[in-house]
Amino acid sequence: MIIKPKVRGFICVTAHPEGCAAHVGQQIEFVRAKGPLSGMPKRVLVIGSSTGYGLASRIVPAFAGGAATLGVFFEKAGEEGRTASAGWYNSVAFEKAAHAEGLYAKSINGDAFSDEIKRQVIETIKADLGQVDAVIYSLASPRRTHPKSGETFKSTLKPIGDSFTAKTVDTDKGLVTDITINPASEQEVADTVAVMGGEDWEMWIDALSEAGVLAPGALTVAYSYIGPDLTWAIYRNGTIGRAKEDLEATAKRLAGKLAPNGGRALVSINKALVTQASSAIPVVPLYISMLYKVMKAHGTHEGCIEQIERLFAGHLANGATPQLDEAGRIRLDDLEMRPEIQKEVAEIWPQATTENLAALSDIAGYRSEFLRLFGFSLPGVNYEAESDPIAPMPSHG
Ligand code: NAD
Repeated sequence: MIIKPKVRGFICVTAHPEGCAAHVGQQIEFVRAKGPLSGMPKRVLVIGSSTGYGLASRIVPAFAGGAATLGVFFEKAGEEGRTASAGWYNSVAFEKAAHAEGLYAKSINGDAFSDEIKRQVIETIKADLGQVDAVIYSLASPRRTHPKSGETFKSTLKPIGDSFTAKTVDTDKGLVTDITINPASEQEVADTVAVMGGEDWEMWIDALSEAGVLAPGALTVAYSYIGPDLTWAIYRNGTIGRAKEDLEATAKRLAGKLAPNGGRALVSINKALVTQASSAIPVVPLYISMLYKVMKAHGTHEGCIEQIERLFAGHLANGATPQLDEAGRIRLDDLEMRPEIQKEVAEIWPQATTENLAALSDIAGYRSEFLRLFGFSLPGVNYEAESDPIAPMPSHG
């Protein structure tokens, strides 16, 4: 079939196999060009490994450190006449590239919140790797079914306490409007914490640890976000921020549990970037398109792969010790949060309208990056050619 993007609001419902492979290939090339890193973990489990920060967290250990990687994600395989999800094609491309390099790479597709997937991962580690040296936790999900109670929680993206009115952009149509979001109920706050907080991360580490598959000195890292006060009402002080506070508190608890065995648990505060998860948050895409414009002008813009390469090169490997803020977190958002960058974004923010959006922000860059997430808009891919939507996962035999 000939595959074209079908954008529906903040999601694209098609994905391009060759385009996703090219996108993964670009990230691998970036890592290769940067050169190998020393002291990298050799057996890495990445939970949420198919897109965004998790995919980059699989590519960097593999291609800068020669690591064996086990990836966990929740993606749709392709069928006759229907494309797979982008994360499926990304993972097929990643596995092929890793195998070509002689690296172990297997993927488990299913609900990471479930006991069953945790069991499958533990079995696979025991059979193939013995233990893992690092566990990267990079899930972003709108819902979670609790493995013990069976209850399904939905996360919401709402302010807490007061309603919040701010500018937002429909990134597909380029319309800038005001949006008012009513505050979350206590239940919605609790449910968002249940989905995006630290409970599942802790369940993973406990399960891996009890099964004896965490190597001595194992490292675990999860990702969080803070951002500027322009987005605080919807992000850091909102429902998702509560979940991130819970995740950060979990890191402290996990650090205590892992320390006797020489292990570490850390949170890295990453930069705001276009991913499937961030495009669903109100207000944030407008901030990101302004941030991109300003950071590109300053020559400090980074994508997921640049961020995660810097995470390992500057904090976790290569002879580096993690540089932590006062709350014990790694700050990969340091360039985003520089006062001169935030000052410029804050100056643009009140001026933006539908009419001047293209001039004041990098909405064009936002849109092409959004399309690249689904394998579109990549150089060297013939989008008029027939593609086979069915791409078997090499490790699934
Ligand atoms: P993403 O949407 O690109 O990736 C989410 C991953 O989670 C995918 O691999 C997906 O398959 C997997 N996943 C979702 N539900 C799952 C389930 N039930 N079982 C198994 N896998 C499942 O998201 P992202 O933006 O890369 O986010 C990853 C982490 O980084 C999140 O914690 C997010 O808050 C954090 N973060 C993101 C940004 C940003 O701007 N995008 C900034 C800072 C921190």
